[in-house]
Amino acid sequence: MTEPITLKDITIHPIIEQQAAFFPAGGFFPTLDSELLAENRAWLQPSFLDQADQLVLCIQGFLIKTPHHTILVDTCVGNHKPRPTRPFWHMLDSDRFEKGLAAAGVSVGDIDYVMCTHLHTDHVGWNTRLENGRWVPTFPKARYIMAERELAHWTEREKRNPASVPWITDSVLPIVEAKRVQIVKSDFAFSEVVQLIPTPGHTVDHFSVLVGRHGGDALITGDMIHSPLQAKYPDLGMMADYDSAAAGRTRRQIFDRFCEDPTIICATHFPTPSTGRVRRWGDGYKFIAVD
Ligand SMILES: [Zn+2]
Repeated sequence: MTEPITLKDITIHPIIEQQAAFFPAGGFFPTLDSELLAENRAWLQPSFLDQADQLVLCIQGFLIKTPHHTILVDTCVGNHKPRPTRPFWHMLDSDRFEKGLAAAGVSVGDIDYVMCTHLHTDHVGWNTRLENGRWVPTFPKARYIMAERELAHWTEREKRNPASVPWITDSVLPIVEAKRVQIVKSDFAFSEVVQLIPTPGHTVDHFSVLVGRHGGDALITGDMIHSPLQAKYPDLGMMADYDSAAAGRTRRQIFDRFCEDPTIICATHFPTPSTGRVRRWGDGYKFIAVD
């Protein structure tokens, strides 16, 4: 379930903030028609789809402990953040994320690096916290790793229309201003056991994180995929994609690479257990949970 994954001397702990049925499947996947949904309802329910055809999603990050680094990949929605267009994330006031860190044996002061797979609202929230009316870095000694073109894209959007991207204003730019950001290419080799893998499409310069050594590794997807329905149908785009065709090519390429390997896929938005392996399934891929 929420047990850590162990890869020799490395552990990966899911840090969950929320799990719920957030979005109707039809709107979430704009090209998903009712027939295709009907064909797949039996295996999607009840884990991935509720009785009202709402997608069950987890909002979580992953904590990686290596002998040398403590790294948090993605920081969920965060507290006290105005998100008027998303009522279930608006002005959240929850201790679940910090309790998750505590259960994994760390506090905010222990995080060496935060890695932002991309800069969407449900992945950057805990980058900052409110202190005396100001947004300050939540993790006082962490450096925050962001992909170069991703940061440039959202910085430009924020400049043009800040009201459309409040999470950039309160959860990304304060990190830049505090000089805590480390800007990298999306194929950055962080260490011998932590490697960024470019997975563009959902956003302009999205990356996933490959952890471990060949034969004993795990891939933290970020939003390269949102539902196992997109493994079966890799070309199925979701509503917030920057380029759905590119996202589909990314899914095919990544699953083709890992579908014969023992690599554990840590699928950020899949409900628990969010960890599994991918295997071929017709023209697509099947996600087989491992807990
Ligand atoms: Zn997301």
